[in-house]
Amino acid sequence: MIHLSYSRLSSYSACPYRFYLEYVFGFRPPLNARMSFGSSLHLALEGLYSLRKPRPSLEELFQFYLQRWLPYGYRSKEEQSRYFEEGLVILREYYFKNILQFRTAMSTELRFQVELEGVNFSGIIDRVDGNREAYTLLDYKTSRQEDYLDSLQLPLYHLALEERFGHPPDGLYYYFLREQEQSHLPAGDDKLAEALEALVRVAEGIGRGRFEPKKGPRCRSCDFRKFCRIEEERLTLGIEPSE
Ligand code: SF4
Repeated sequence: MIHLSYSRLSSYSACPYRFYLEYVFGFRPPLNARMSFGSSLHLALEGLYSLRKPRPSLEELFQFYLQRWLPYGYRSKEEQSRYFEEGLVILREYYFKNILQFRTAMSTELRFQVELEGVNFSGIIDRVDGNREAYTLLDYKTSRQEDYLDSLQLPLYHLALEERFGHPPDGLYYYFLREQEQSHLPAGDDKLAEALEALVRVAEGIGRGRFEPKKGPRCRSCDFRKFCRIEEERLTLGIEPSE
């Protein structure tokens, strides 16, 4: 059975050859500041929402941030300290905007593994609020909102938890940390069907060994470019990646 997570699915959809290099061949892109910073914020908020008390303090949130800060992927100490300071600002704003509605989460970093349409689908959900009878899913994002409007991540998590708990969640939310905005994602039947269809399509592509390169603007910043024949074409024929 093919094993997929949302990152694998989106990697394959963006470029099957990139997926091949990363997940079949085993090349790992180097950790960068953006990834490390995002994980540090996630870890701090995971700590906050695991606390079993009515209203944790800002100091407790900062304490989690300090203890769980990941110092990897930064190009210099200055860059790391710029990011660290930005994180303090983001968490302070987050705290004052959300603390009055604070509830200990039902689960933070909830790991799941389910079978959907014959695909072994696994993932980690940042936060599940409520209880097993009535629950909502939330995913924190440090990147831009527009990158997620069409994302199938939460619809797939919806399907996974419906399978696991026996009934669907009451709501799906992204929280955009830089904008301090919580956005509700409507997941109607169309969106859920689209998510399932993408899962099956990607699993079929992988199962059939289809790993062709997909040229596009993302080639310019691709970590695997030097291993890709796109680079060879650029050097020998002067063809720049285009959509
Ligand atoms: S350079 Fe472009 S085509 Fe090549 S692996 Fe990266 S994203 Fe795919």
